[in-house]
Amino acid sequence: MNITYRVKLNENGLEEYQKSGIILNNLLMLSWIILGSLTGWYFRPLVAVLYFSFGVIVVYVMHPKLACPKCYYYDKWCGMGLGRLSALISKPSDSKYFNSFSGMLVIPLIFGILVLIPLAIYITWIFQEFNPIKIIIVVLWLSELVYGNGIVKKKKCSLCKMEITCPESALKLT
Ligand code: SF4
Repeated sequence: MNITYRVKLNENGLEEYQKSGIILNNLLMLSWIILGSLTGWYFRPLVAVLYFSFGVIVVYVMHPKLACPKCYYYDKWCGMGLGRLSALISKPSDSKYFNSFSGMLVIPLIFGILVLIPLAIYITWIFQEFNPIKIIIVVLWLSELVYGNGIVKKKKCSLCKMEITCPESALKLT
């Protein structure tokens, strides 16, 4: 597909990411969503179902519909493989809107809900009886959040063609 990019691209960025890394990144994301859902389960089973559904929709539908059509990796294998998924469910869009509220800027706001819900539940756990399983869930969830948004994201972003434009770049945020 021949698309003109009207944003400055990272010359050191990869044309496409390796499949093994994409699989690992998706496993990390899915396991983080499942841990968040388990957290919700301890509150109300319905919260677990809603959290899981919302998490999957945000990552695998909203993101590929909003941000990816304006991205260099539309129809290519990006770090999460969402560029390819995006080409299956949406048409390409103008890259100049990548860093806008109809693109990448809205994603952290929506994603924030996925972070805030478990955090709010963990605060209520402080006042409840000690439960080792809950401690394990908190530790794993927080570790994956920090690891996924730190080491993994930094590496992914440093190899990304959109790094200069992306408001979510870990290289800018840290
Ligand atoms: S790098 Fe980000 S915005 Fe671009 S296709 Fe991949 S997930 Fe979508």
